[in-house]
Amino acid sequence: MTANEPTGEQLLVPHFIAGKRAGLDRAEQRRGLIVNPATGRKRGEVLFADDTLVDEAVAAAKEAFQSWREVSIARRTAVLFSFRELLVARRRQLAELITAEHGKTVDDALGEIARGIDVVEFACGVGDILRGGYSENASSGVDTYSTRHPLGVVAGITPFNFPAMVPMWMFPVALAAGNCFILKPSEKDPSASVFLAELLSEAGLPDGVFSVVQGDKEAVDCLLQHPDVKAVSFVGSTPIARYVYEQATSRGKRVQALGGAKNHMVVLPDADLDITADAAVSAGFGSAGERCMAISVVVAVDPVGDELVDAIAERMARVTVGPGDRPGVEMGPLVTEAHRDRVASYVAAAESDGASVVVDGRRHEAAGGEGFFLGPTLIDHVGAEMSCYRDEIFGPVLSVVRVGSFEEAVSLVNANPYGNGTAVFTNDGGAARRYQREVEVGMVGVNIPIPVPVAYYPFGGWKDSLFGDLHAYGRDGVAFYTKGKVVTARWPDPAVRHGVQLGFPSSSG
Ligand code: NAD
Repeated sequence: MTANEPTGEQLLVPHFIAGKRAGLDRAEQRRGLIVNPATGRKRGEVLFADDTLVDEAVAAAKEAFQSWREVSIARRTAVLFSFRELLVARRRQLAELITAEHGKTVDDALGEIARGIDVVEFACGVGDILRGGYSENASSGVDTYSTRHPLGVVAGITPFNFPAMVPMWMFPVALAAGNCFILKPSEKDPSASVFLAELLSEAGLPDGVFSVVQGDKEAVDCLLQHPDVKAVSFVGSTPIARYVYEQATSRGKRVQALGGAKNHMVVLPDADLDITADAAVSAGFGSAGERCMAISVVVAVDPVGDELVDAIAERMARVTVGPGDRPGVEMGPLVTEAHRDRVASYVAAAESDGASVVVDGRRHEAAGGEGFFLGPTLIDHVGAEMSCYRDEIFGPVLSVVRVGSFEEAVSLVNANPYGNGTAVFTNDGGAARRYQREVEVGMVGVNIPIPVPVAYYPFGGWKDSLFGDLHAYGRDGVAFYTKGKVVTARWPDPAVRHGVQLGFPSSSG
């Protein structure tokens, strides 16, 4: 946020179009409330885009595309390199903004920014991936080569839980490939988007190449319906991901729509229980469980069970819960009051379904305060039919399902409709290898609880966790944001005349 940015009750988060803050002069626009989850108090408001505003952003992007597509790869990546430098220098400021609107700790916000920077660095090297192939003399006197081209105006619709990292899974790659990008961030924590847009401008990105339209379903629908938006990247819950995929593909757009998750951590009998319990607590309660790669289910393979539950519970008691900007705090609040209450309702449902609530976050001392806090919660003896197992809870609730064998564990994970991430904890290499081969999940960790791929490998789940063919960032990201062309060329040789040939051309000549 720049120095003249109004703060507190005065904060009004604008759109960002054609290189500047936009929409502030349109008094009739709908607005959304921004609340600090740690205090429960209003922080400000965000403007909501309507079709006129989305049209304006798309028109600016379409015009900017005519020149941005002609800018050399070297110059495009130089802008991203400058953006990376600015981001590194100002990451603390961005992290504090994220904490004020999302609630996660400042350290955690710095972590998501670091993962975003990884993708910016990857995009700085896009020239290597955009490089096509060249085959000399594919046929007599004929050369063939391939090139990749940007799509035009592309849109990204992102969730509340990573207001900096998830947009950075998308736009660095899209921009490096020569596209113009329109971001529709979550209305719950919108300030990070404008911060990023202003850094891009400062880094030298031409006006209109990156825009932000704030808003809710209305803005999303305008983007999905706009004929000049050629591709949509979405990250959010599964029902909305499915909706976005169906709406956008039915209009001929290219779509990658990443959805929700239920990530299982399978613990085999030979696992080191101290390492495993540390990992379960870190991956279950980091960011208050509001991570698409959070572990939400521990699958304890017999005889692992009582000992593991005790080890996890004992560590949970030491997790410090409080406002994310307070030193020493490890877990902040949930994003909204409604979400906190929804998460708590799953704990109540588990209790009445016959599961045992070993650690009850509803009774945590922080849970009674003004902010939207819920303590870490552990539920044992969970069954696959219970709502706390079936649904994505997206909060600090870890369920333990006890199974009798490796095979039962794999069947449980594979029967789940989600397939985002999973982990296996074991010292048996053969069992780990078998698990990663048999499990129907897109990202697998072996003794790693949150296996988010590095920037040069793509991120994405299977089944109801992703709609579309290509995953986010890495080579998949470059393929998503470009289309291929193959050129077959012959330079006339006055000595060789082919004459009229009506037969189908073949390369056997
Ligand atoms: P969400 O689906 O409610 O919102 C995501 C985006 O869609 C937001 O920009 C929101 O404004 C918009 N939106 C909301 N309702 C809409 C509607 N009816 N029509 C059109 N657009 C709509 O998700 P969220 O609560 O912001 O984020 C949490 C979810 O995101 C969780 O399900 C989590 O698993 C998922 N997520 C998935 C990944 C992944 O990589 N698979 C990563 C992060 C988050």
